[in-house]
Amino acid sequence: MPLTTVPAFARIGEENAFAVLARATELMRQGKDVINLGIGQPDFATPPHIVEAAIKALREGHHGYTPATGILPLREAIAADMNGRFGVEVSPDNVMVVPGGKVTMFMAILMFGEPGADILYPDPGFPIYRSMIEFTGARPIPVPIREENGFAFSAEETLALITPQTRLLILNSPANPTGGVTPASEIDKLVKGLEAHPHVAIMSDEIYAQMTYDNQVHRTLLAYPEIRDRLILLDGASKTYAMTGWRLGWSVWPKHLYDMARKLAVNSFSCTNAATQFAGIAALTGPQDAVRDMVAEFDKRRKIVVEGLNALPNVSCATPKGAFYAFPNISKTGWKAKKLASALLEDAGVATIGGPDFGVHGEGYIRLSYANSADNIRKALARMGEFLSRAKPQG
Ligand code: PLP
Repeated sequence: MPLTTVPAFARIGEENAFAVLARATELMRQGKDVINLGIGQPDFATPPHIVEAAIKALREGHHGYTPATGILPLREAIAADMNGRFGVEVSPDNVMVVPGGKVTMFMAILMFGEPGADILYPDPGFPIYRSMIEFTGARPIPVPIREENGFAFSAEETLALITPQTRLLILNSPANPTGGVTPASEIDKLVKGLEAHPHVAIMSDEIYAQMTYDNQVHRTLLAYPEIRDRLILLDGASKTYAMTGWRLGWSVWPKHLYDMARKLAVNSFSCTNAATQFAGIAALTGPQDAVRDMVAEFDKRRKIVVEGLNALPNVSCATPKGAFYAFPNISKTGWKAKKLASALLEDAGVATIGGPDFGVHGEGYIRLSYANSADNIRKALARMGEFLSRAKPQG
């Protein structure tokens, strides 16, 4: 008898950014000069005081399990940080520490996804949303994210997609892959409309909350008491503190879901790495200048990237308002997006991600991460320009 695994694995997806990273690394190993604008992680080192806090924790013997939901001082620091940044009340009893931002979406989608359920998610959007929705057997319902709307989600369009089968609505602002930031007025409108749909839970992925530009103010969904009993807030240290490899995320849950999240933790990872949690306390309670400096540097590069992309033949790029991604429109080049991304990597030595890797509405776009030096970004843009003027488009 052959082994039989559950059919859900025929439906689970992946993040192509990791495949592109592997291919870029392979090309570099072969001696090719590749500029990696594919990967979504800050190119900065974790600030030293955060690293030191983890080392100190290990030296002081924090080698054991912690509570499944995270150590209290970290949960207090997370609650205080949200209070400080947004003026919202968050109890440490509703805060759950998890190994990375992804874990919160994994848990939330597992809680609400099953055959017969619909889950709404942004498209183009972080690919794991759809992958996990499909894994649970729920029906993925894409909410189109449109360039003409500044890559913000539309409250009206989102609300129109809600049916009695809708269980969960996933939101993401500032957004990956578009860099879109949804204005507060649109979020007000959405929350107002959600009053008519009390059966819909909301997961707001705010992992890029501290990365906004042009004086855009991030509006957290936590600011709406009327939905707090059905809101799951996803955040973490990966992007803000340049800590992607540490695996440190956190979330805020309504009380009735919190215990389910705790049980999922106990049944899977037990707890987040102890030393990493101490690093998290240092990150949140220590000086924040490294965050400000990093965002200021991203802002400078953002301008270089947008200007450079708009100077390329048949390419146009809306100015991203948040995160560290540009999402240029390449539809007029005659190239299909994934073919272009692949050719740019193999032929021009520039790693990017094709828009369709973020959903069907990503066709006609590629994603560039500007988490790379200004010099490399300029070099990559020059290579792209040279490539586009010489290569025959593959539609
Ligand atoms: N949410 C969004 C929108 C992201 O872009 C990412 C990472 O790229 C994550 C969540 C996951 O973050 P983490 O690496 O902490 O799991």
